Amino acid sequence: MLGLLVKVNPYSDESLLGYLHRLAEANALSGVFLTDLSKLEMHNEPGSQNFIGELNVRWHEIASEIAAPPTRPMPLWNLRRRRFCGRCLGEKGYWNLFWDLSLVTCCIEHKTPLCDICRHCGKKLDWSEHITLSCPSCGDELASTDDTAKANADELWLVRELQIAFNAGSQRAPHLRHLSTIELHELAFRLGACSSNPRSRKPLKIADSASLATASRICRNAAAMLRHWPHGLEQGLDRIRTERGHGRVWQLIVALGPIYKEIFDRLSDQAYQFARDAIERYLLDRWEAPLALRHRRLHANAIAEHRWLSVGEAASRMDLKLAVVSRAAQVGEVKCRNQAYSNGRVARVVEISSLQVIADKLRSAVGVEEAARKLGLSKKRVVQLIHAGFLKIWGGKPQSGAPWLIGQNGIQDLLRPASDVPLQKRIKNTQISFSQLMRCAAREDSIFKKILIASLNGTIGISGAENSERRICDWIFERIIVESLLNSTSTSASEIGVVEAARTLGVKQEVVYALVQQQVIKSRIRKINGRETRLIRLSDLEAFRKKYVFGRELANSLNCSPKYLTSALSQSGITAFGGPTSTTRPCRQYYWLRSSKLEAYLAQHANPTQCNLTKSGVFPEIEN
Ligand SMILES: [Zn+2]
Ligand SMILES: [Zn+2]
Repeated sequence: MLGLLVKVNPYSDESLLGYLHRLAEANALSGVFLTDLSKLEMHNEPGSQNFIGELNVRWHEIASEIAAPPTRPMPLWNLRRRRFCGRCLGEKGYWNLFWDLSLVTCCIEHKTPLCDICRHCGKKLDWSEHITLSCPSCGDELASTDDTAKANADELWLVRELQIAFNAGSQRAPHLRHLSTIELHELAFRLGACSSNPRSRKPLKIADSASLATASRICRNAAAMLRHWPHGLEQGLDRIRTERGHGRVWQLIVALGPIYKEIFDRLSDQAYQFARDAIERYLLDRWEAPLALRHRRLHANAIAEHRWLSVGEAASRMDLKLAVVSRAAQVGEVKCRNQAYSNGRVARVVEISSLQVIADKLRSAVGVEEAARKLGLSKKRVVQLIHAGFLKIWGGKPQSGAPWLIGQNGIQDLLRPASDVPLQKRIKNTQISFSQLMRCAAREDSIFKKILIASLNGTIGISGAENSERRICDWIFERIIVESLLNSTSTSASEIGVVEAARTLGVKQEVVYALVQQQVIKSRIRKINGRETRLIRLSDLEAFRKKYVFGRELANSLNCSPKYLTSALSQSGITAFGGPTSTTRPCRQYYWLRSSKLEAYLAQHANPTQCNLTKSGVFPEIEN
C-alpha cells in the first residue's frame, strides 16, 4: 500500500482523509504528502485504487472526488474544511466519515453542533495541514469532554435523515424515504440555499460554502422546509415571496425567484416529483392569479385545477352568466381581486372554489316575477320580503334593468310552514285564507309581516287548500287565532294574557285559570312593567283547541242543550276530561278530550250545518 512500512487498519466509519493522516503519522510522513501520493496513485491506476481496499465502499466515491475535485458549489462531500465532534473524537480517537458530508453540521449521538476551528486559538482547520488529534497551530487537543451546546432541532432532524439514508436505514420521514443520500443532499441544498438567500439571483453560488457556519444556515433553512411537509415548504415559499418584496407580483419567476427553476428544471428526476407536486399544490392554494395555459413547467392538471381565473373563464367553467359572476364578485360573495398586467390593463380575477360553492344557488336564482308566482304573492310583496330580509338575494341590489337574483332556498323556507300541513277542500266559516285576510284587513303591510312571522315561527297553525301548491296566498288560518294575534299587545306578539285567552276561547277567565292550573293549557309567568303576568303562547292555545273541546261547542254542533249533552255522552261511555263535577279537574265548564270515540259520536250525531263560533270577529264573514 503506497509502499509504506507501517500498516494501519482503518475503521469501518472512518474518514478517508482522516485515515490518510493517521497512516502518515504512523509512518512519520506528512499527511498532505500522503494525500497527494494517493491522488497520484489513483490517477495512474484509476481502476484499482488498491490502497483503499474493500473496507469502505464510500471511500471509492471520495477518492474519485479527491482525484478530480468537483466544481459544483456544494458537492455531497466536503473535503476542504474539517468538521468534528470534540466528544466523539475524544471517545474514538479517529475522524468520522459522516462529518465529511457537506450538510452534516451536528453530532447525532451527542446532539451538539460540530466544530470546524480550534477551540483554543480559533484556527480554521482544513485538510491542507497535517492534523490527527491536535491543533497544528497551538498544539491544543481537539478532543473535548465539555461540549454542552445544543444543536438546532431542525438541523439535527435533517442530519439524522441524511445519516439514515447514508446507512441505508429504514426509519425515515415518509416523504423522503425514497431519496438516496445524494438526492436528499441535492434537494436540501437547493431549498436551503434559495431560502437562505431569497433575494439573490444566483443563490447557489455561495462564498465559503465549506465553512460550518454556511452549511449550518443552509441545513437549517432546508430542514425548516422539508421537516413539516408540505406545510414547511409552503411557509418557506411565503417567506421567500415576502423577502423578495414581490408578494403581490403575479409572475412566478419574479415572485418565487430561482427556487422555482431549480426544483422544476435542475431536479427533473422522478425522485423529486413529490417536491414539484407540493409546489403545484402551493400554487393552487395561494397563487392568486391565473396561470398561463401553456405554462411549460407546470403539470397540465395543476393549471386545469388552478383556482384563480378571469371572471369570464370562471363563468364559462361554472356555466353561469358573466354578469352574474361579476355581481357576486362585486359584493364579495366570491373571492376576487384585481390583477394589474404589465400593459396597464387591470382585470378582475376570481377564486374558482369560492364560486363553486355557490354556483348552484346562483344558477337557480330567480327574478321577482318567478318568485312571486312560486310564493303566490304580488311582486310588490316579494320586493317587500327582500327588503325585510326574508328572501336571500345574490349579487346585491341589481342596477336598473338587471333582474334580482332571488335564492331558491329563501323561497323554500318561506313555503316550509305549509309543506306538510293537512290539505282541505274548502275554507270553513271559522277560517280565513291569507289572501282573504290581506284583502279585508287594514294596515295590511304590518299585518302581512306579523302573520308571516307568526306562521314561520309556528305561533299560528296553517292548513293548506287542495290544489293550491301550498302557496302563501292559499294558506288557511283559524280566524280566532289570527284575531288574537292581531289584537295582541304583547311585545313578542306570540303570547297573550289570560283575559285575551278567555276572550279567544269564548269562556270566562276563571275557566282559563282552571285550565292553566291543571296544565291543560301551558303558560308561563313573566314580569311586564314590574308586574307578574301570566302569558300563554298562541301555539299552546291552539294546541289546547286541537286536543280538547268545550261542552258548549259540542252542544252547538250537535244542536242540543249542554246539560243533555253531558248525560248523553256519559251514557255512551264518553266522560268529560274536566268540569264542574270532576274531582280531579274542577272547572266551570265541561271539556272533553277529542278522542276517537268522541269524534265517532260526533260524526254519527252532528248537525250538518256548521256552527260559527266567532260572531264578534274583526273580519267580515266570507262565504265560500
Ligand atoms: Zn459526538
Ligand atoms: Zn489551536
